[in-house]
Amino acid sequence: MIETDVLIVGAGPTGLALAVQLVRYGVDFLIIDTKETTTPFSRAIGVQARTLEIYDQIGLADKLVSLGHRAEKAKFLKGGAVLGEANLSELGVGQSPYPFVLLVEQGLHEELLYNHLKGNGHDVLWRHELLSLADDGEAVAADVRGPDGTVFPVKTRYIVACDGAKSSVRHKLGLTFEGDTVERLFYVADIELEWPHGHDALQVNLGENTLTAFFPLKGENRWRIVGTFPKGHNKDEAAVPYEEIEEQIEHDMGVKLDIKKVNWFSVYNVHSRAVNAFSKGRCFVAGDAAHIHTPAGAQGMNTGIQDGYNLAWKLALVLNSCADEKLLATYNEERLVNARNLLRTTDRFFEFAASEEWLISFLRNNIFPYVFDTALKFDFVKNELFATVSQTGISYSDASLSAESGKFAVKAGDRMPWFELDGTSVYDEIKEPRFHLLVFGADEGAWKKMSDELGAKWQDEIILRSLPLADEVKRAFGNEGPFLALLRPDNYIGYLSDDLSAKTLKEYLERYCSRSGRPAV
Ligand SMILES: Cc1cc2nc3c(=O)[nH]c(=O)nc-3n(C[C@H](O)[C@H](O)[C@H](O)COP(=O)(O)OP(=O)(O)OC[C@H]3O[C@@H](n4cnc5c(N)ncnc54)[C@H](O)[C@@H]3O)c2cc1C
Repeated sequence: MIETDVLIVGAGPTGLALAVQLVRYGVDFLIIDTKETTTPFSRAIGVQARTLEIYDQIGLADKLVSLGHRAEKAKFLKGGAVLGEANLSELGVGQSPYPFVLLVEQGLHEELLYNHLKGNGHDVLWRHELLSLADDGEAVAADVRGPDGTVFPVKTRYIVACDGAKSSVRHKLGLTFEGDTVERLFYVADIELEWPHGHDALQVNLGENTLTAFFPLKGENRWRIVGTFPKGHNKDEAAVPYEEIEEQIEHDMGVKLDIKKVNWFSVYNVHSRAVNAFSKGRCFVAGDAAHIHTPAGAQGMNTGIQDGYNLAWKLALVLNSCADEKLLATYNEERLVNARNLLRTTDRFFEFAASEEWLISFLRNNIFPYVFDTALKFDFVKNELFATVSQTGISYSDASLSAESGKFAVKAGDRMPWFELDGTSVYDEIKEPRFHLLVFGADEGAWKKMSDELGAKWQDEIILRSLPLADEVKRAFGNEGPFLALLRPDNYIGYLSDDLSAKTLKEYLERYCSRSGRPAV
């Protein structure tokens, strides 16, 4: 029998990223996967700014960036000719220290996370499969089968199912996975290709009713192609040979391609589905086990990573007896809404990218390539697009952990806005996995009173910082006078107020984060 606090089922990007977060908090966990090791395939290649921001807290962002390729330009092609170009390099400048989409193969990404785990004294139990689970309200008893076929029990306080789209845990918990299957069959292929359009841009071919996108991968002439077969191509996924993919690409492009080598390809059905709840009792679902959708916008893997990021600090506080178990219910509250929004956004993206409907097809093929770059020159278009795609715009403002008083341009529940103070990233101040109380523009008296009142009770859990009310701060928060922002350990704003007294802040903290007889957060 193995006893642990958290059993993570699945070591894909979601499970590995969750494990990496639990390491930060010193939580005891076990992570298992049926596979031999990390995936050798490229699968999800788009890494969003929000993912890089959270990796930056543990020194992994720059390492991941060095393994990939920045998507700084997009070209729109038709019939082998370039119709238009858009500059993506400025998209998120001023909004994130990582103002771009990074293209890096999932296999390399998983390996980086896995090596980080090993470097911190943890390993994955590969070739181990979860067979069953029983939650008695106090703990979960699970049966796990090891590589030699031996079945052994695991007793755990919580289980997190990161076991992918076909999640057996989700089935065992009786959670539904409502939604639709996209009518088109998708293909991906990693190829080596020589062509006249360069290797410095994401290239999108505008077909009449199909989507074909070319993503440059690190290395000479290496590309990832993602595309769809037209409606009515009803073959079984496994029955489509690579030759058919190449034929389809050339048909849609209207030109013959000089493909030198095919490194990997896959044909798959895409679904747009989400669970009805992200948790049941002591069991949680995350990543593809909780939501799947079209690859439009490269959101899937990133969303799984953010699921784990949201859950890790809550599990840590509860397991360290610093918070009441009801804090864990906010995982479902926050991430379920996010998953539903995500499905809507990716469905809309996909509809625009591949719809056969006359008007949408006309706009996509005849207007969009010519106006997109110009549209990106307008700040509100650029900012809105970046916030959505990069996942920096995700907000929990309607959720119960968010409270505010006063008038601000940001809301409690938003991610801490990014800016630089004297040339230094404000994110450098908030890397530790604890609450951060940032007090801006307080005079000495107010700051001393605040730090005395809070420090006495919460000195281990909250890092207090007094910061100047610089122009950058005023711009980012849209507030002219002194104020305070309490950041949760995942750097979303929990409490935001222009009232510098500690009273309401203490009430906020005690609502979720104190247990009678235990140290409160
Ligand atoms: C061909 C293909 C192309 C894709 N392209 C893109 C893309 O371009 N952009 C994008 O955003 N997304 C893409 N995706 C989706 C992306 O890969 C997923 O969103 C991402 O892998 C989800 O990560 P995950 O960890 O939640 O699940 P997974 O990566 O599916 O990992 C689940 C893990 O759980 C393990 N497991 C399952 N059951 C058990 C069990 N009972 N016991 C122990 N272990 C178990 C599995 O072995 C697996 O390793 C693609 C997917 C595929 C298949």
